[in-house]
Amino acid sequence: MKSIKRLFPFLKKYKGYVALNILSNILMVLFSLVSIPIMIPFLTILFGKESDLVKTAPSTLASTDDLINYLQYFFSQVIEQSGREQAMIYVCVSIVATFFFKNLFRYLSLVFMTPIRNGIVRDLRQALFHKTMILPLSYFSEERKGDLISRFTADVQEIESSILSVLEVVIRAPLTIIGSLAFMIAISSSLTLFALALILFTVVIIGGIGKTLRKKSSAIQEQLGSLVSMIEEGISGLKIIKGFNAISYQEQRFDEENTNYKNLLNRLLWRRDLAAPLSEFLGVTTVAVLIWYGYYEVQKGTLVVGTFIAFLYAFFGIIDPAKRFSKASYSIQKGLAAADRVDDILNAEVTIQEPTHSKNFSTFKNEIIFQNVHFSYPNSDKMALNGINLTIKKGEIVALVGNSGGGKSTLVDLLSRFYDVTKGQIKIDGTNIKDYKLGELRSSIGLVTQEAVLFNDSVYQNIVFGLENISEKQVIAAAKIAHAHEFIVQMENGYDTNIGDRGVKLSGGQRQRLTIARAVLRNPAILVLDEATSALDSESEKLVQAALQNLMQNRTALVIAHRLSTIKDADKIVVLKEGQMIEIGKHEELLSRNGAYKKLVDLQSF
Ligand code: ADP
Ligand code: MG
Repeated sequence: MKSIKRLFPFLKKYKGYVALNILSNILMVLFSLVSIPIMIPFLTILFGKESDLVKTAPSTLASTDDLINYLQYFFSQVIEQSGREQAMIYVCVSIVATFFFKNLFRYLSLVFMTPIRNGIVRDLRQALFHKTMILPLSYFSEERKGDLISRFTADVQEIESSILSVLEVVIRAPLTIIGSLAFMIAISSSLTLFALALILFTVVIIGGIGKTLRKKSSAIQEQLGSLVSMIEEGISGLKIIKGFNAISYQEQRFDEENTNYKNLLNRLLWRRDLAAPLSEFLGVTTVAVLIWYGYYEVQKGTLVVGTFIAFLYAFFGIIDPAKRFSKASYSIQKGLAAADRVDDILNAEVTIQEPTHSKNFSTFKNEIIFQNVHFSYPNSDKMALNGINLTIKKGEIVALVGNSGGGKSTLVDLLSRFYDVTKGQIKIDGTNIKDYKLGELRSSIGLVTQEAVLFNDSVYQNIVFGLENISEKQVIAAAKIAHAHEFIVQMENGYDTNIGDRGVKLSGGQRQRLTIARAVLRNPAILVLDEATSALDSESEKLVQAALQNLMQNRTALVIAHRLSTIKDADKIVVLKEGQMIEIGKHEELLSRNGAYKKLVDLQSF
């Protein structure tokens, strides 16, 4: 029960609809309750003999019997005044009318439910996407991508189809049950008690089966997650899979997971499908026992046949919603398992926090200082950075070199606060970067990475990328600085060409120059280039390098370069190895020192 409460905050937004839905349901239940039982005394009289007519009204209306008597008296009057034929038409019209209203409110309740259901699903996806955007990078390892995508899609879908689709039942069923119970108690409290005892027995049996369902569902959704991961891996690794003739190996791995999923699903469905038949069978058994009991009551004369029939009618009114309810509880268990998985993401800790008393970071004035910086990735006991002390003066270009795994990317990622240092601190102009407004810190750092990340949008929007109050002139100027303008204007629709459209074949160098234009437009004080040219062939590397040179003018830059020739003019070259700075100095100094840097240079000068 506790876990279904999690939906309440989501429901809150739809208070109005919820109220309208409940109102419609109450009205629907009222109309379905009154429809038949009230007709019973009428029908008895209508099809009865002249002597059945009730000529005198009861003196009080204290009991149900009195009420039935009064209705019979009222109806007898109608027959006497208008004739049986006319009375029959009245009966038919009122039956049609009550059912019309019952179904009208039933429809209305669904009309009000629809925006709640779809709204909550939308809100959930939105919340998930928002969370994805603010969670630390370390949360999204490659292996977890598929699992996360399946939480976004399959699990949200599951919540939709299992929890939200039964909200209707969850709201209506109790109302119907309460209404029917009230009706039953009014007719005969002893008979009601007896019936309740029977129902309780049924509920206990059915509830027992439902218990394991949630755990099973959870396992199933997890299995689906690894299946999706595998599909993702398979598609992105197709070249390698084919090249290494690993198709049958991959297929076999997939088959194992896929079959496992099928088996889990079989077991779940067998169990779930047991609910409806079992509850119907138990329900009918209950009715049989009730009839048997009622028969003796009628025989004894403690119960009138008409009353007993009305009672049975009300009891049937309980069975159906109870059946739906038990089915719904299965669904809800299944949905809650999915909600747990969605919740894992929604509740994941956002470790990179906005400071409570944040400082503005408008202009970069003096220097960036790494002070005894240590860092280890979450779930890793190895230090990725181990005691970094580095000062970067405004206007300097500092190059980070070293073998892969040395900690270069980690070091620059710390500056943008993609992660926070484990020990030590990073200061800009004397203030710890954790104290600056996160948005301002990041917008003063321009980032160009090895992988040119572009989005399914126009060239223009990929450059502007969310910046506000940007003129077309500025965009074109940025593209020119990035040496991108020439090829953009040659594209089919120029700046309006959609990157995602088929037929747009941008080379790696062109893609990279677009991301450089994006950085130029932001005019950041600090630049971070993490192997910006490493993925390029030497022809486009030249163009990109020229673009980068333009970009770096009058800026402070941290450059990670694969090709050492591109950084030999840097103000400082830092050699990183296993998280430590083993050398620092200018190109010439380091060469003459004949150490690690010299070795790296020699390796490249073949
Ligand atoms: P470089 O950029 O110099 O090649 P990195 O900064 O990427 O090196 O990596 C430094 C160390 O941190 C390596 O040992 C690497 O295995 C580890 N590392 C990098 N990224 C992660 C990560 N997301 N999770 C755990 N360990 C990581
Ligand atoms: Mg790297």
